[in-house]
Amino acid sequence: APRVGVLALQGDVREHARALDTLGARVTLVRRAAELAEVDGLVLPGGESSVIDKLARAFELQGPIRQAIADGMPVYGTCAGLILLADRIADGIAGQQTFGGLDVTVRRNAFGGQVESFETDLDVAELGGPPVHAAFIRAPLVEEVGRAARPLAALADGRVVAVEQGALLGTAFHPEVTGDIRFHERFLARVASVS
Ligand code: GLN
Repeated sequence: APRVGVLALQGDVREHARALDTLGARVTLVRRAAELAEVDGLVLPGGESSVIDKLARAFELQGPIRQAIADGMPVYGTCAGLILLADRIADGIAGQQTFGGLDVTVRRNAFGGQVESFETDLDVAELGGPPVHAAFIRAPLVEEVGRAARPLAALADGRVVAVEQGALLGTAFHPEVTGDIRFHERFLARVASVS
């Protein structure tokens, strides 16, 4: 089984670990560079992107994660994790940085605060099967998709909420919360194909 990591500095680490475990992956919680070096793929959880950014720099993980992305390691980011994969943030807090890799611009909290959180069904042609039941929790929006990235899913009004670029996958919503494991499956297939 592939060994995959969940960045475990802040956020919904446990839900991701459970989804990956269900799919038969061996899961490592990544808090330091030595743990990152052991994994063939990495999940960036939902949470608070500015906090995860700060902690990743404090734990000296920003450089190694950027290098792993540059080296082609598969990474799947949900919500805050998508923000951390974005090359550009429309409205980051002062000094907020990302790992980058996805040629997109994201807007944080694009739907408002916690009370504006919502669930909806999304057709995701690439996944096949029934629509994805998606939970948006203080979710970001992909405002601009650059040439290198490809939209995977959009809301009914066309606003993009999932993107893919090479080995990188990002969703504005949380499949790990609603129990749809098809995005994790797609991530693990990518891990299996490169490792
Ligand atoms: N609003 C959060 C952020 O900007 C993301 C919320 C989430 O991950 N559910 O990081």
